[in-house]
Amino acid sequence: MEVIQTLFQEIIGFLGISQLIEVCKTGNYKVLLTLNGIFSVISPLVPFLLLLEICRAIFYKKFKIEDYKMPFLIFVANRFISRFLSIAMVAFCIGLLEKYALFNTSLKWYWFIYGYVIWEFSHFIYHYFGHKVRLFWCLHSTHHAPQTMNLSVTYAHFFLEAPYADVIRTSICILMGVNPPLLFIIMFIDGTWGSFIHVGENLIKDGRLGFLNKIILTPSHHRVHHAKNPLYMDTNFCNLLNIWDKVFGTFQHEKREMQIEYGISREMNPNSFLDVYFGELYGLWKDMRHAPGIKNKLLYVVMPPGWSHTGDHKTAKVVKAAFLKEAQQAQQPAAIKQTADQLI
Ligand SMILES: [Zn+2]
Ligand SMILES: [Zn+2]
Repeated sequence: MEVIQTLFQEIIGFLGISQLIEVCKTGNYKVLLTLNGIFSVISPLVPFLLLLEICRAIFYKKFKIEDYKMPFLIFVANRFISRFLSIAMVAFCIGLLEKYALFNTSLKWYWFIYGYVIWEFSHFIYHYFGHKVRLFWCLHSTHHAPQTMNLSVTYAHFFLEAPYADVIRTSICILMGVNPPLLFIIMFIDGTWGSFIHVGENLIKDGRLGFLNKIILTPSHHRVHHAKNPLYMDTNFCNLLNIWDKVFGTFQHEKREMQIEYGISREMNPNSFLDVYFGELYGLWKDMRHAPGIKNKLLYVVMPPGWSHTGDHKTAKVVKAAFLKEAQQAQQPAAIKQTADQLI
């Protein structure tokens, strides 16, 4: 009986409807007009969209268990681990750093815009280093392992990634004066949008969302981020406002002629939980073990994935440069032929 009750609580928790149930029970619908009330209405959106995505896939006979199995297993494992390991990094960083804030902000609209720009910057920093520092990639790669895109991917994370992300994002925001209530509102909006951008082609085929593609980061941009195509690797690190990708030169549109290949570039077994969850850590340990000298061993920890002490690097930068060179060489004869044809 207790098992069924726990399972029921887990489902309610996953759907994010506990607060709504409470409102219905008490009949105090005025609560829905408060900020907390609005959050309680928006929270279940992504879980329900995920259910809709699954139902639609089943209806159109496109449902494949392997598309959802791994994110589900990761979600369950994380829930299990977090029962023993509760890390409240956000609260810890706020308590530690609030007194060092450069200045104070309030809940005014212009501070909201300022806070969002700072939040996106902090998100960019966490995410960029999650791709460019091998140790952090070990924490982030679980999220990139799925070979298809659907809303369940939003739940696929290594359990230590959240504390790593929270320390960087909260510290930068608090030091830059984003006050905690403002930070929580931004985190909520960003978390909801950050989940939604994982919507699969099954539910929304063209993730560009029309004109929105020009002004914010859409599911299309995040699909590009999850791609292992050389041109798409290590691009679109932002979450909602993609200004920082444009500033730092990591912005990339989805090309209609280039089919997205989801996943990570190393050889892996996408159906093995151990490989998806610990594969990168194992790879790092193996590289460190074989590397000569302490300096090389440490370099493996901090250099980008694909860096090699032998000089034979296969980093995203190297792979992309080779791809672009090849594409340019392939274009040259075609361009010469076109010019020759025009001359004749
Ligand atoms: Zn990423
Ligand atoms: Zn993602």
